Amino acid sequence: MRIGLTGGIGSGKSTVAGFLREAGAAIVDTDAISRALTLPGGAAMPAIREQFGADFVTPDGALDRDRMRALAFSDAGAKRRLEAILHPLITAQALAEADAADAARAPLVVLDVPLLVESGRWRARLARVLVVDCAAGTQVERVLRRPGWTRERIAGVLAAQATREARRAAADAVIFNDGLPLAALRNEALSLAARWGCETMAMP
Ligand code: ADP
Repeated sequence: MRIGLTGGIGSGKSTVAGFLREAGAAIVDTDAISRALTLPGGAAMPAIREQFGADFVTPDGALDRDRMRALAFSDAGAKRRLEAILHPLITAQALAEADAADAARAPLVVLDVPLLVESGRWRARLARVLVVDCAAGTQVERVLRRPGWTRERIAGVLAAQATREARRAAADAVIFNDGLPLAALRNEALSLAARWGCETMAMP
């Protein structure tokens, strides 16, 4: 079974992905794919250089992330042009990794897609969508602990992401990860993995 995993920033999505991996699921990490595409020699770099110019490429040939973030923030057209380069490459690579996991007989293939609900092109490719949800205040608290994050930057990301309601409306299953000890979160993730084909049982 192929499922999508999504959640807002700081919801605990990556933590849940880790527990699903522990249960035997193959995880396809679209964030990691996106980063790899824009590293030196990454498959997106020739098109990025052509579209945006050498100013957006670091001396070693990677995407200049700070510069691109600033541009995309102030220029919606530039953001769309970057996405038009990246999204088809991310989709193709993610589906290739999912196919490889199927071929290796993974009991469950989980596509970790932060913007699954926003982008609309994933749902048809997935049997189920699992959403990790929590209160916005909890998201902010968690992300503030990451180096380099301010309330303003978090507010910007939250405003650009789907609302909790939109995400929940798209979900086949929701893990409400608020006030939940990590052991309980793990149990919920392992139970879902078992229901969706992994031979694992949540521990009492
Ligand atoms: P996301 O991938 O959704 O941005 P993460 O899984 O990285 O979020 O979680 C954000 C932070 O919150 C991490 O440091 C993680 O360990 C912590 N966290 C998530 N869920 C819980 C929980 N139930 N209890 C304690 N810490 C948690």
